[in-house]
Amino acid sequence: MNDDLSATRRCVKCGLCLPHCPTFALTGNEADSPRGRLSLMEMLERPAEDWSPGLFRHLDQCLMCHACEAMCPSQVPYSRLMDRARARLEPRRPWRRRAATALGLALLTRAGGRRLSAVAITAARLSRARRLPLLPPALRRWLQLLPPKADLRLPAPPKPAASSARGAVNLFTGCSGDLFDAHTQAASKLLLERLGYKVNLAARAHCCGALHQHAGRPERARQLAIATARAFADNADPIISFASGCSAHLRSYPQNDPQTQALSGRTTDICDFLVAHGAGALALKPLPESVAIHVPCTHRHCLDPSSIQTLMSWIPGLQPTMVTAEGGCCGAAGAYMLTQPQLSDPLRDAMTQRVMATGASLLVTSNIGCALQLAAGLRQRGVELRPLHPAALLAMQLSDA
Ligand code: SF4
Ligand code: SF4
Repeated sequence: MNDDLSATRRCVKCGLCLPHCPTFALTGNEADSPRGRLSLMEMLERPAEDWSPGLFRHLDQCLMCHACEAMCPSQVPYSRLMDRARARLEPRRPWRRRAATALGLALLTRAGGRRLSAVAITAARLSRARRLPLLPPALRRWLQLLPPKADLRLPAPPKPAASSARGAVNLFTGCSGDLFDAHTQAASKLLLERLGYKVNLAARAHCCGALHQHAGRPERARQLAIATARAFADNADPIISFASGCSAHLRSYPQNDPQTQALSGRTTDICDFLVAHGAGALALKPLPESVAIHVPCTHRHCLDPSSIQTLMSWIPGLQPTMVTAEGGCCGAAGAYMLTQPQLSDPLRDAMTQRVMATGASLLVTSNIGCALQLAAGLRQRGVELRPLHPAALLAMQLSDA
């Protein structure tokens, strides 16, 4: 494993990244800024006895939102450095914390864990177990984030004309797409078929490895990526992902690693793919409503930042308002919304208020984590607004085939 942290020295301490950092904006603490965290990473080169007491906390409080990296004039590879720093911290954490992380990751990314999660989610919804005070805090927060079952229903989309005139694509469902985002999966498949693609769903429930990578477990992340690459090795067709976090992570695997290069070379996010492959020509029914557009950090900084807005502009009569144009993060950030409530909650509340201030009757976002986070914030305020994936809204407006 490459754990070289020498690129921290590329930081010239100019501070241009500071106004773009959501955690620095919240705490005003230099140690919660990109520049401060890079200095803490430099400390990791020294013996552990010399580390500052707040080192773990400030590095853990980074959202990995990529905002600093996107605008750094010195091109400090911040995300890569943070992953390496966390990999160094992980073996030094208390065993209870490591065990809890391993359990949480297994519940989402292992086949048996996902089955257990599905049963637990159903039981929690039926029994209202999400209110039980005896559950561990992270699990209680997880159950509180889950929308009620009825929230997941979508109007039935029209049937597509079966076609494969334009070739085939692979739809990457992610480790939890079946569990939490089945409607976006169905909508993505429908849109791709309407465009004339045969959609291959054979390789289901593989994982991009992002959660493991950002939790300081790069070896396991790489194992998952290799398994995913193998699952798509029987063809050379594009891989389409419908969660911006997964799309960005799959595209980040190094091009010089023969075992994972297919992922970075072949993956495209569904929104970006639809824009680039003529979805504007699809016949869409008018929708005289207003939509708030939330562009997740991963979509804004690692993918095509304008594709969601472009998709929404194609729906006749729809009035869009951006809620992330000035930056900011909703505080979801993968497992962050479970493990860092002290910063995640205020970030969620601020973004929820921005959504409410638009007065929009619809809300779209391209990442399932952000959708769960915003839905929880809106539910807490008694607002009946359920975040949809842009592909889901587009599919709902398709004219009958
Ligand atoms: S913008 Fe880049 S070089 Fe400047 S302080 Fe931030 S990380 Fe360092
Ligand atoms: S990744 Fe985001 S939260 Fe972390 S230091 Fe950079 S701007 Fe701040």
